Amino acid sequence: MTDYIIDPAAPTGVPVRGSNAVFPVRRIYCIGRNYAAHVIEMGGDPDRSEPFFFQKNAQNADASGEFPYPPESSDVHHEMEMAVALHSGGANITEEDALSHVFGYAPALDMTRRDLQAEAKETRRPWEPGKAFERSAPIGELVPAAECGHPDSGRISLRVNGDIRQDGDLNQMIWKVPEMIAYLSRFYDIAAGDLILSGTPSGVGPVNKGDILEGHIEGLGGLSIRVTG
Ligand code: MN
Repeated sequence: MTDYIIDPAAPTGVPVRGSNAVFPVRRIYCIGRNYAAHVIEMGGDPDRSEPFFFQKNAQNADASGEFPYPPESSDVHHEMEMAVALHSGGANITEEDALSHVFGYAPALDMTRRDLQAEAKETRRPWEPGKAFERSAPIGELVPAAECGHPDSGRISLRVNGDIRQDGDLNQMIWKVPEMIAYLSRFYDIAAGDLILSGTPSGVGPVNKGDILEGHIEGLGGLSIRVTG
């Protein structure tokens, strides 16, 4: 057994429906601008020329049900997304083979310090401060594909304090799940434990301390997050 000079951090775990075992997170990839209506609301032009991804840290995943309002921002936005969890991976995976690497799916949020992201875009600096901060990826229970299949359509929605804010359909994704897996595997060795956040429909907006965020994806279920101070 390896003797570590300090205790290695335990992997971040995501609960799995029907199991006492949790899913250990290795990496978190997030696609940007994957729903046309969201691209337009952010001032862009939807197109299929090339997808782009950024990463969060594995430790940013959080299944606690609480989102502490982060420091250094006064404009933190919700982005409701579907997380894709891999039980295997590799390099240069084909679209045809891609779904065989998927363990399951979960409702998740790509919480964003929008002011810091906007500043990064303006100054051509990396997005990490806006995207990859503590507890920035709240996630619900993972549903095994053996149970839910591979959802490529169905309502994806988010309520804030009961009011509907985001309301889309998985079939509006510009880049589909098999395409995302195949594309990522050209650039990285993707592997068991990886999560892919598949983009947000339109309606993103700011959250405040005390808000209750209730996300729902048809066929998967919901997640409920309380924004704390
Ligand atoms: Mn996002």
